[in-house]
Amino acid sequence: MQFIHDWLPQRVRFASGNAAEAVADEVRRLEASRVMAIASDAARAEPVLAGVPVAVLHTDVAMHVPVEVAERARAVAAEHGVDALVCVGGGSTTGLAKAVALTTGLPIVAVPTTYAGSEATDVWGLTADGRKTTGIDPLVLPRAIVYDATLVLGLPVPTSVASGLNALAHCVDAMWGPRADPIDRSLALEGIRALRDGLPRVVEDPMEPSAREQTLYGAYLAAVAFASAGSGLHHKICHVLGGMFDLPHAETHAVVLPYVVALNAPSVPDLDRRMADAFAAGSALAGLLDLKRELGAPRALRDLGLRAEDIPEAVRPILDAAPSNNPTPVTPENIESLLRSAWAGEEPA
Ligand code: NAD
Repeated sequence: MQFIHDWLPQRVRFASGNAAEAVADEVRRLEASRVMAIASDAARAEPVLAGVPVAVLHTDVAMHVPVEVAERARAVAAEHGVDALVCVGGGSTTGLAKAVALTTGLPIVAVPTTYAGSEATDVWGLTADGRKTTGIDPLVLPRAIVYDATLVLGLPVPTSVASGLNALAHCVDAMWGPRADPIDRSLALEGIRALRDGLPRVVEDPMEPSAREQTLYGAYLAAVAFASAGSGLHHKICHVLGGMFDLPHAETHAVVLPYVVALNAPSVPDLDRRMADAFAAGSALAGLLDLKRELGAPRALRDLGLRAEDIPEAVRPILDAAPSNNPTPVTPENIESLLRSAWAGEEPA
C-alpha cells in the first residue's frame, strides 16, 4: 500500500438530548467568554445556548452565503468583541460561521441540524453576483462538532430525504474521488450502512431519535470521507448543473447519483461489491435504487426545472471538470447520455 491520509484536527461529540451541556463544555475548553451564536432559527438555537456566554445571537443567515451577508456577520463579530462562534443550523448556517472564521480566525463550535456535512470539512463557500467561490482553509474547520439527534427531529421528511441522499452521495463519490484512499473508503462504507439503515426509519417516523442518530452518524462519516477523497464525477456534475441552471442542491444530488453509479461501477467491480454489501443488495446500483424507491426520492431532472434543450450546453463543462482518474473514462457521448437519462428519470442501465 502506498498512500497518505491527512486527518483533520477536530473533536466530535454525539450527545443526543444533551447538546446544551456538550456545547457549554466545548466553549469552556476554548476558554471563550464572549460568544457570537449564529442560527437561522433562534427558537431552535436558544435551548442549545443555555450554558453559553452569548454576547450576540445573529440570525441573518442566507443560502450559499452571499458576500454581503458574510460582511454583516463579520461586522457584528467585531462590534461585540467576540472570542468564539457557535453555529446551530444546516449547511447555510455553518457556512456563515466559516465565512466569519475565515477573516477573523475565531474558533467555531458547530451544532448541525441537517445532513449537509459542512461541519466536518475545511471548505468554505461565498456567493457574489450569483457566482459561488469555494476554497480550503484550516481556519474554517470547526474545532468541535456537537451532534444532538433531538435537534433534527423537526427536519421535514422531504428535506431529510434530499439532505440524506446528499450525504449518501458524499459516501459514493468518496469511493472513487481523485484522492480516495483505503481509509476514506472504510469510512464511506460505514456511512452507507448507517444511512441505509436510518433514512427509511426517518421516513417512517421522523420523530424517532435513534433513526436520526444513525443518519447523523452516517452524514458525519460521509463528510469526513468526502473531504479527504475530494470531489468525484458525481459532485462535478451536480456543481455544473447547479451553477448553470440554478437547480436545488440536495435534490439534484438525489436524482443524479444512480446514473453516476451505473456509469462507474462496472469499471470497479471490487468497489461495487463492497458498496453492494453495505447496501445489503446485489449491486451498488440495485441497493441505491431500492433505497430511493423506499424513500420516495426525486427521480428526474426535468421535475427540478432543467429543460431538455439545456443538456448539450452542460456536457463540455462537465468533461472539463471530471477527475482524470474517474473509473470509467468520460466522453461527450456517455455524459450526454447520462444527462438525458437523468433528465427523463429513466431506469439507469
Ligand atoms: P440549509 O442550511 O439552507 O437548510 C435548509 C432549510 O432547512 C433551511 O430553511 C433551514 O432553516 C431548515 N432547517 C435546518 N435545520 C432544520 C431542522 N432541524 N428542522 C427544521 N428545519 C431546519 O441547507 P443544507 O442542505 O443544510 O445546506 C446547504 C448548504 O451547505 C449549501 O450552500 C451547500 O453548498 C453547503 N455545504 C457546504 C459544505 C462544505 O463542506 N463547505 C458541505 C455541504 C454543504
